[in-house]
Amino acid sequence: MTSVSIYYIVYTLGVMKTMKQYALVIKQDDLSKHVANKIKHELKGIMEYDQENPDLVISVGGDGTMLMSIHQYLNQNVNFIGVHTGTLGFFTDYQKDEVFELVEAIKQDKYRITPRNLLEVKVKHEGKEDIYWALNEMRIDHDYTTQVIDIYINGELLEVFRGNGICVSTPSGSTAYNKSIGGAVIYPGVPLMQLTEVAGIQHNAYRSLGSSLILDADKIIKLVGHHFDHVYLGIDHLAYSIENVESIEVKIAKQTVNFIEYRQLSFIQRIRRAFINE
Ligand code: NAD
Repeated sequence: MTSVSIYYIVYTLGVMKTMKQYALVIKQDDLSKHVANKIKHELKGIMEYDQENPDLVISVGGDGTMLMSIHQYLNQNVNFIGVHTGTLGFFTDYQKDEVFELVEAIKQDKYRITPRNLLEVKVKHEGKEDIYWALNEMRIDHDYTTQVIDIYINGELLEVFRGNGICVSTPSGSTAYNKSIGGAVIYPGVPLMQLTEVAGIQHNAYRSLGSSLILDADKIIKLVGHHFDHVYLGIDHLAYSIENVESIEVKIAKQTVNFIEYRQLSFIQRIRRAFINE
């Protein structure tokens, strides 16, 4: 992860050291393996293949593969780029038949770095504190029991939520699960987090805000469950079952992850490509 002191920088011109080593994170299907082999072949003599200490991580697969890449290399100062081997991806700038274009761009070595915010999720349970990082979102869910959760913002009670669960997403994750549960899409760049209900109960006995709440980097969301003895915590593509949870705190992490852009695809182009069928 890279630490940044100025949150509001969206795009940084390529001023990093020249990238010499690359790693591949590959979805385990035949097409992705084939595309990855092609990349490896084409990059011979241009960059060194190094799974341990890469400057550039090339994710070959889908958005889920990119999430895996991020979590695998979270503690290293690396840049990420994605090649999609399925239909469309939000984190992937290249398609499966664009290996040549990607290799040419790497040779040209002209790029922009886009830092993306992460969430820091602190889970207090059984006298311990575990920290998780999420690029898309954290979710608390229970498939059959109504969750009753006190939600505090910087120590102040917002509401007692009743429903299936809670999702807190980053701007990157605003187009993922958050969007499916009715949250807003957030234009990237500003460090914001979005609290969105999952099937909140709204009737005369129980009522919660009902709409998404968007918060800045000074805020900490604290969740205290009335029945957090067996909670399911989703962090991006990962799921954890945690016992005896006292509280969960969520804030925007100081660290970011760096996506590298050899070609410029605007956010509007990305959402048109993914969601607006014309
Ligand atoms: P996956 O790779 O099959 O991803 C599930 C879907 O979410 C795919 O269509 C993927 O392209 C899309 N997606 C992931 N991140 C996205 C993003 N930032 N913007 C737009 N679309 C995005 O499944 P996985 O490997 O388990 O990936 C985990 C992610 O999938 C989670 O972080 C969650 O946001 C998303 N997801 C979405 C839903 C939903 O929308 N109902 C359900 C489960 C998981």
